[in-house]
Amino acid sequence: MRGKLVVGNWKMNGGLAANAALLSELAAGWKPSPGRAIAVCVPYPYLAQVAAVLAGSPIAWGAQDVSEHASGAYTGEVSAGMLAEFGCRHAIVGHSERRQHYGDTDAIVAAKVVAALAAGLTPIACVGETLAERDAGVTMSVVLRQLDAILAAVGANAAKLVVAYEPVWAIGTGRTASPEEAQAVHAALRARLAKNGAAEVALLYGGSVKADNAKSLFAMADIDGGLIGGASLKAAEFLAIARS
Ligand code: PEP
Repeated sequence: MRGKLVVGNWKMNGGLAANAALLSELAAGWKPSPGRAIAVCVPYPYLAQVAAVLAGSPIAWGAQDVSEHASGAYTGEVSAGMLAEFGCRHAIVGHSERRQHYGDTDAIVAAKVVAALAAGLTPIACVGETLAERDAGVTMSVVLRQLDAILAAVGANAAKLVVAYEPVWAIGTGRTASPEEAQAVHAALRARLAKNGAAEVALLYGGSVKADNAKSLFAMADIDGGLIGGASLKAAEFLAIARS
């Protein structure tokens, strides 16, 4: 459902004490209002801690990946059913770091999205072009190819997705897409989603979002919020982004 959503991706960061401090600052500082939500997606070992600390809080939480398989001989993997069983509601899928370093192809990402949906999780499905692809002028074809793989797999369930546009060249680099560059891609993604009966999907932008650039990005017509990496590790910065 379309609404303002800001999701923190902690990546492989954290520690029990640091998490406790960060989460309690977030819980104390976040005042929810209708149509605005925040969530944190944390490393698997910290899901139980996050579930306990955020119990009764309006802050949602989730994982950063999910297996495409339901169970079996997949050492090191975590299934969507396992996540759902103890209350996890979101999972990032197809983050560019998974695509780049762990071989997540369009087909695998699509299968992971299907597995997440089957378990009742909301997948935050990521798409985005590399710098070489942007320079080659193929941004739209790349992100639409990535989205089409997911849409073909989920069929009538497309409206249950959250989609994040994350240009790879903007992730963790301090370089952000301009609001206009991001909006152009979001408009194309929105049009493709609309063709699949999912015009109301929340479309997040991610890539070096900070408190000082969030407002102008989130003001764009098709940008419904953000997927925030580095800046989600600082409570004040993350809350400032969420309030933008
Ligand atoms: C991310 O990891 O999804 C991300 C957008 O990172 P950063 O905000 O640090 O660029």
